[in-house]
Amino acid sequence: MAEARLIRVSASTFAWIGANGDSNAGVIDTPDGLVVIDTQQLPSLARMFKNAIVATLNKPISLVINTHAHLDHVAGNTLFEPTPIIAHKKTLELLNASLGTRKGPHWVLDGFEATARLLWGNNLFDLVPPGDPNLHFFRERISAPEYDKIAVAPPTMTFTDQFDIELPNDVISLRYFGPAHCDGDITVHLKGEKTIFLGDLMFYRRFPWMGDCDLNGWIDRLTTILTFDIETVIPGHGPPTDLAEVAMFRQLFVDLRDKVETSIRSGASEDAAMNEVHLPEHASLPRYEQWRAINVRAAYRYLSGR
Ligand SMILES: [Zn+2]
Repeated sequence: MAEARLIRVSASTFAWIGANGDSNAGVIDTPDGLVVIDTQQLPSLARMFKNAIVATLNKPISLVINTHAHLDHVAGNTLFEPTPIIAHKKTLELLNASLGTRKGPHWVLDGFEATARLLWGNNLFDLVPPGDPNLHFFRERISAPEYDKIAVAPPTMTFTDQFDIELPNDVISLRYFGPAHCDGDITVHLKGEKTIFLGDLMFYRRFPWMGDCDLNGWIDRLTTILTFDIETVIPGHGPPTDLAEVAMFRQLFVDLRDKVETSIRSGASEDAAMNEVHLPEHASLPRYEQWRAINVRAAYRYLSGR
C-alpha cells in the first residue's frame, strides 16, 4: 500500500496499516474511550494516525499500548500525552538500557547509531560491523531528516505477565510469553472479536529482521499463538491476516534454525554458514536479499551460545 490508512478489521477494532510495509498501529473502540496500539515510527506518521482516529471515531483516547520497545512502534508516544501508556516491564527496561537516563519527561534520540539501535536492536553493530557494506541499507532506511532528533515518551505503566481490560461484552487481554522478536513483546487480544495484534511477533510475507531476537522463543511464541481462537491477526508490518499466515511465518524460522544447526554440526565457521545457508523456499520474500546473511549470522551466534 502506497499510503497508510485506517481500516476496520472487526466490530470495534481498526488497524492503521503502514505504507509499503512500514509499521502498523491500531485502535479499539471501547465504551470508556479509545485504546491505541503502538504509535508509529515518526511523529509525523503518528500525527496522521491520530488525525485519522479523530476523523473516524471522534472519541477521547483513554489508553496507549506499546507492543514492544522498537522505535517504529514508540516514536509517536509524545503525540498521545498525557494519556497513560502501558507496556511490558521489559519494554521500559529495554528503553532505559538503550537510551540511558532521561533528563526530563522524554528521551531525546539523536544520531544514526542510537536511532538504528532502537530500531534494529542493541546488537546491530555486532551483526553489521563498521565497514560492512550492508550498513548502507540501514543508513538509507533512516536518512529522512525527521530521524535526526526524536523525543520518545516512556511507558507510564508496566505489567509482567498479563493485564486485562474488562469491557461490558469483551476483554482486551495483554499477554507476555517471554523473549521472542525482542524482549517485552506482548500480544493484544480482543477475545470476543477473535482479533489479535501481534506487534512484531508477526511480519506479513516479509523476511524478518532477527537482530534483537530469541530464535527459539520466537518459534515457541508463535506455536502458542497458533492455539488461540482467532479470526483476524494484525501483524506488526503488512496487512491484516490469519493464523494460516502465522503458521507459514513460523515455518520460516524453523527452516532457518534447522539449516543453521546442520551447518554448525558439520563444523562450518560463522562465515561459511553465512555463505552456505540459503532458504530457496523463502527467497522471494522482500528483504531476503538484504537480510539473509545477517540473519544467518544472528542464528549461528544464538544457536552456538554466543
Ligand atoms: Zn520491532
